Amino acid sequence: MRAPVIAVDGTAGSGKSSVCRGVASARGLRYLDTGAMYRAVTWAVLEANADPHDADAVAAIADKVVLISGTDPAAPTIHVGDVDVTTAVRGDAVTAAVSAVSAVPAVRARLVAVQREVVDAARADAFGVVVEGRDITTVVLPDADLKLFVTADPAVRAARRAAQDAEREGEHPDVAVTEAQLRARDAKDSSRDMSPLAQAADAVVVDTSHVTLDESIAQVIALVDALAEPS
Ligand code: C5P
Repeated sequence: MRAPVIAVDGTAGSGKSSVCRGVASARGLRYLDTGAMYRAVTWAVLEANADPHDADAVAAIADKVVLISGTDPAAPTIHVGDVDVTTAVRGDAVTAAVSAVSAVPAVRARLVAVQREVVDAARADAFGVVVEGRDITTVVLPDADLKLFVTADPAVRAARRAAQDAEREGEHPDVAVTEAQLRARDAKDSSRDMSPLAQAADAVVVDTSHVTLDESIAQVIALVDALAEPS
């Protein structure tokens, strides 16, 4: 079959990125983290000292920003112009503001167009691609070869996210606070007017709550491999 396009949506902290990167690495596919793109626009908004809730200001910044996504699943990167913001976009200030920025229609229109260009390029190069986000199965790539919705219990997600923060920043956040933040971000992402997070009717649900990362990756690899089998 042609190079597969795999669309993945899911909740914050569900392990979606780890699953997507593991699958892409195992099957030689490119990997596009669209969340990192929304985070990079948010970084640019904060860098310009603009108000993330000022839709006009945010739209003007998003219109000019030059984003470059590195799609190697072993080491994905994101640049704003020539600044490598791969690490900076994971900071608390960006995380707190990203749902407001990503709710601005002009931001979404611009990023969806860029995302489709990246997918077309990956197809043209005969690479397949795994694309993850919140509206990939429903809006960006409704004709993807495989659609997944990755999720996990909120308490499990919070415990994992807190452990990641501790590893990265040496901080030990209160897990209850982390869970409240994840739930708040899910609620904002699911209730916005344009392209809310939603489970596509034909998406396969991957629940990572009670399985290891390797088991989730194996589950998805089996689905990817099945695409190549004659039906
Ligand atoms: O996946 P990650 O948690 O890094 O995404 C950060 C935020 O970017 C999400 O909470 C959501 O507000 C936004 N986002 C989006 N649409 C996407 C990907 C991410 O609105 N396709």
